[in-house]
Amino acid sequence: MGYLDIDTRIGRRLNKLRDAARTFGEEVVRPAGIALDKFQDPSDVINKNSVLWDVFRGYREHDFHKLMIPRAFGGTMGRYPSIALPMVNEQMGYADGGLAISLLVSSMPFIFALMSPEAKIRDWARAYAADKNASMIGCWAITEPAHGTDWILGVSKAGGDPRLAPSLTAVKKGDEYILNGWKSAWVSNGTIATHALLHVGIEQSMGIHGSGIALCPLDLPGISKGAPLDKMGQRALNQGEIIFEEVKLNKKYMLLNIPGIFGANAFGHTFLGIANSTMGSTFSGQAKASLDEALKFVKTNERDGKPLSEQPDIKIKMFRMFAKVESTRLFSLRVANHFLSRFSGPFMSAGTSFRMTFWMIGKALQTYASLNENHEFIRNFTKRFTHPEHAGELMDWGKYGVGSKINATETAYQVAKEAFEIFGEKAHVKDYPIEKMLRDARASTIEDGINDSLALASFEGL
Ligand SMILES: Cc1cc2nc3c(=O)[nH]c(=O)nc-3n(C[C@H](O)[C@H](O)[C@H](O)COP(=O)(O)OP(=O)(O)OC[C@H]3O[C@@H](n4cnc5c(N)ncnc54)[C@H](O)[C@@H]3O)c2cc1C
Repeated sequence: MGYLDIDTRIGRRLNKLRDAARTFGEEVVRPAGIALDKFQDPSDVINKNSVLWDVFRGYREHDFHKLMIPRAFGGTMGRYPSIALPMVNEQMGYADGGLAISLLVSSMPFIFALMSPEAKIRDWARAYAADKNASMIGCWAITEPAHGTDWILGVSKAGGDPRLAPSLTAVKKGDEYILNGWKSAWVSNGTIATHALLHVGIEQSMGIHGSGIALCPLDLPGISKGAPLDKMGQRALNQGEIIFEEVKLNKKYMLLNIPGIFGANAFGHTFLGIANSTMGSTFSGQAKASLDEALKFVKTNERDGKPLSEQPDIKIKMFRMFAKVESTRLFSLRVANHFLSRFSGPFMSAGTSFRMTFWMIGKALQTYASLNENHEFIRNFTKRFTHPEHAGELMDWGKYGVGSKINATETAYQVAKEAFEIFGEKAHVKDYPIEKMLRDARASTIEDGINDSLALASFEGL
C-alpha cells in the first residue's frame, strides 16, 4: 500500500524546507534517537561528545530554530507560510518524538523574550537566532513535585484555591524578586537549559491564578540542577529538576506579573491551546512513523508462506491505521497553522499574524511597565481576556489545540500498539524500532498535561 502525501500542494519553497527537515530527520535525528535511547545512564545522553549535540547543531544549521523569530531579529518568520513550523515539527516527531520536543522547547524563552519591554531581553531572540553551536538552550519550567495537573486544571475556577499555590514563589523586594522553590524532574531540557520560561507564584492567596511568568537566565547564584531523569520513554529527551534558593531575579525579567490573569479563562485556555497544538503536529509525525514501520514489516515478513500484507486481517488493521494517522495529521496541521497564522484575540477583532500578536502583547506590557504598576491598566487588560466577545473565540481555539494534542498522542500510542502486535515476538527486540516508538508514544499522553486532565480543563470551552 502506498499513499499520497497530503501536503503536496504546499508550493516549491515549503516543499524544499519540508524535504530538508525530512532528510535531516532520517539521516541525523532518527539514528541519534536510537543511539541515545540505549544509554543506561541518562547522563551519557548529554555528555559533551554525545550525538545529541549533532542534533541541536544540525537543527540550527538548517535554520529551523529561526522559524518563530521575526526577520528584524535575525529570524525567518514570514519568509515561509505559517504552516512551515508545524511541518518541521511533524518531520522531527517522525524522526524521534523525544528529540523533537527537546528542539521545540529550546526556543520557548527566546520567543517569549520578544514580548519584553526591555530591549536587552528582546535581544535574547537575536542571539538565539545567531547561535549555531547550541550554547543557548531553553526550557519551559512549570511542573513542580507537588503540582503537575494542578497547573492544567488551574485554568478553571478550581485554580483559585490557595491550597494549589505554586511551590516556587517569587517575592518582590525592591527591584528584585526573590525566588525559592523547586521545578520537578520532568522539565524537558531541565539539566542542559541556559534559560527558562518560568512559572512562579506571585500571589499565593490566589492559588495557580496568582502565578506569573518570568524569563530566567539559569546561571544566577542560587540556581542548581538535579541529575538527568531516568525513564521509560523519550529517553533521548533530557529532563531534570531545577532548584531555586534565595535567587535574586531583577524585576525586568518578570514578563507577566498580573495577579489573576491565569484565572481569566480565555488566557489560560489560549496558553494551553498554543502549547498543545505544537504537541499535536509533533506526535502526528510519530504516529506516521509507526505506521511506516508496520508497512515495511508486513511487506517483508510472511505467515503461512504468504506475505503478511496479503493476509485479510492485516490488510484491515493496516488500512484502519492509515485512515487514523492521515486524519490526525490533517487535523493537527490545520490547528497548529491556525494558531500561527490567524491568532484572533483580545487585542484585535480580525485575524492577525502571530508575530503581530507578540508585538502587541509586548506593547501592552511596555505600557504596563511605564504606568508603574497602575492596576487600572491591569484590570482592563484582564477584562479584555474575560470579555465574552473576545474570550469566546479564544476558548474555542484553546480547545482545538488541546483536542489536537489528545488526538495525536492517542493516535501515536494506538498505532504503535497495533504495530507492536503485528511485529509479534520481534516487537520486543531492540533491533526493531517499534518497542521504542511504543515507549515514546506512551510518554506523550502525559507530556504537556495528562490527556484526561487536559480534557477536564478544556471541557469549559465546549
Ligand atoms: C515526556 C514528558 C515531558 C515533559 N516536559 C515538561 C516540560 O517541559 N516542562 C514541565 O514543566 N513539565 C513537563 N512535563 C510534566 C508534565 O506536564 C506532567 O507530568 C503532567 O502535567 C502531569 O503532572 P504529574 O506528573 O505531576 O501528575 P499528577 O498531577 O500527580 O497526576 C497523577 C494522576 O492524578 C490525576 N489527577 C491529578 N489531579 C487531579 C484532579 N484534580 N482531578 C482528577 N484527576 C487528577 C491525573 O490525571 C493523573 O492520572 C513532562 C512530562 C513528560 C512525561
